[in-house]
Amino acid sequence: MERISWHQYFMAQSHLIALRSTCERLMVGATIVRDKRIIAGGYNGSVSGSAHCIDEGCYVIDGHCIRTIHAEMNALLQCAKFGVPTDGAEIYVTHFPCLQCCKSIIQAGIKTVYYAANYKNHPYALELFEEANVRIEYIPLEKQTLNLLPKRIND
Ligand SMILES: [Zn+2]
Ligand SMILES: [Zn+2]
Repeated sequence: MERISWHQYFMAQSHLIALRSTCERLMVGATIVRDKRIIAGGYNGSVSGSAHCIDEGCYVIDGHCIRTIHAEMNALLQCAKFGVPTDGAEIYVTHFPCLQCCKSIIQAGIKTVYYAANYKNHPYALELFEEANVRIEYIPLEKQTLNLLPKRIND
C-alpha cells in the first residue's frame, strides 16, 4: 500500500482548507503543525459573521482586498483563541506568505515554513526569515498525492 509522506499529507491539508476560502482573488490555505500533529488550520476569509467577498464582492483598496484575514493569520489566531502554543511549530501554506504574515509567523515562534507555490516572495521577508533562523522550503503538492484519493475510494 502506498502511503503519502508527511510533507504531502500536511500540504494536501492546506490545499483542502483553501477550498473554504471566501475571496476569489486568491484561495489560500495554511496548516500549523507541531510534532507531526495538525494544531490549526486557516483559509483567507472575512471576519466571522461579516460579509464574504464571494457574496458582496471584494473590498479593494490600493490593489488589495482588505476584507479578508489571511490564511496564515487565521491559523495563528485560532491558536491564540484556544490557547495553543505555536513556539517551535511549522506551517504549511499553499502560497508563499505576504510580508505581514511572514512577520507574524516569525513573531509567533514558527521555525519552518513550507510553501507549495511562489507568490510575490518579498525580498524583505526572505531577509527577516534568515535573520530569525526560520527555514523556508518549497514543497509543491504532488499530483500523485491527489491521484491516490479516487484510487482508494474505488478499492
Ligand atoms: Zn476579497
Ligand atoms: Zn498574508
